[in-house]
Amino acid sequence: MFLKKFMKIALVTTTAALVLSGCGGEKDSKGKNDVLAKIKEDKKIVFGVKYDTRLFGLKNPSTGQVEGFDIDLSKALAKEMFGNDVKPEYIEVTSKTRVGLLNNGKVDAVVATMTINEERKKEVDFTDVYFNAGQSLLVKKGSKIHGLSDLKKGTKVLAVKGSTSAVNIREKAPETTVLEFENYAEAFTALKAGKGDALTTDDSILYGMEEEDPSFELVGGTFTEEPYGIAVKKGNIQLVDALNKALKTLKDSGKYDEIKNKWIKN
Ligand code: GLU
Repeated sequence: MFLKKFMKIALVTTTAALVLSGCGGEKDSKGKNDVLAKIKEDKKIVFGVKYDTRLFGLKNPSTGQVEGFDIDLSKALAKEMFGNDVKPEYIEVTSKTRVGLLNNGKVDAVVATMTINEERKKEVDFTDVYFNAGQSLLVKKGSKIHGLSDLKKGTKVLAVKGSTSAVNIREKAPETTVLEFENYAEAFTALKAGKGDALTTDDSILYGMEEEDPSFELVGGTFTEEPYGIAVKKGNIQLVDALNKALKTLKDSGKYDEIKNKWIKN
C-alpha cells in the first residue's frame, strides 16, 4: 500500500519536472536553443535576406534566385564556416519581420541591410560590422528637395516599417509627414506614383533604386551612420564568434572585397 502511494507520488513528480523543463527557456520551433548545433545537425543554415532590395537581396523574377551582396556574402560565410557540409538556404525577411523570424527559429541568421544599434541589441546579437551605410534621400530629378532642410511641414516622405530610417527621419525632420510601407518595393512604387516627395533609407539601398530608374537621384548626402551587422538569436555567442571569424578570413583573403566590388559601385 505504502509502496504504491510512494510510486504514484514519484510518477507525478517526474511528470511535473518533465513538463516544467519543457517550458524552460526560449526554444525555437524544433525546441532547441543552440542554433549552431542545430545548423550542424540539420546540415543547413537558413539566412533571412531581403527579396526586394536591389544590390543587397533581390529576387530575380526570371531565374527565381535571390541575388545581391547579402546573398553572396552569406554564401561565402557558410562555405568558410562549414565547407560543403552545410547548405545555405534563403527565406525572405522585411525590416519589420526580421527580428520575429529570428526569435521563432524560422531563420538562423539575418543578413539583410540591418543596422546595429543599442535598441536592437536588447533583442538580438550582432556580429562585427560588415558594411557601412548612411541614411539619405531619393527624389525625382528636378525636385525642389535638395536635402534634409527642405523637408518642411506638408512634405511627404516615404519610409519602411521597422527600419531605423523611419525612426530617424521623424527625429531629423519633425515637421514632415512620414508615410510607412511594408517593404522597399512598395515604397519605391509609391514614390514613382507621386505619392510622396522623397523616399528615405540607407544610401546603399537608394543607389539600387537610382540604378533601376535613373529619373530619380540621391540628394543631400548622408545624415546618419548605419553600420550593418548579421543578427542571430540572442545568446548564440558561438554562432556570432564563428561568423566573425569567417568574416575576418574573407576580409583578409580579399574575397570580401571581391564580393563587395561586384555589387557596390558607389
Ligand atoms: N539599415 C536600416 C535598418 O536596419 C535601413 C535598411 C532596412 O530597412 O533594412 O533599419
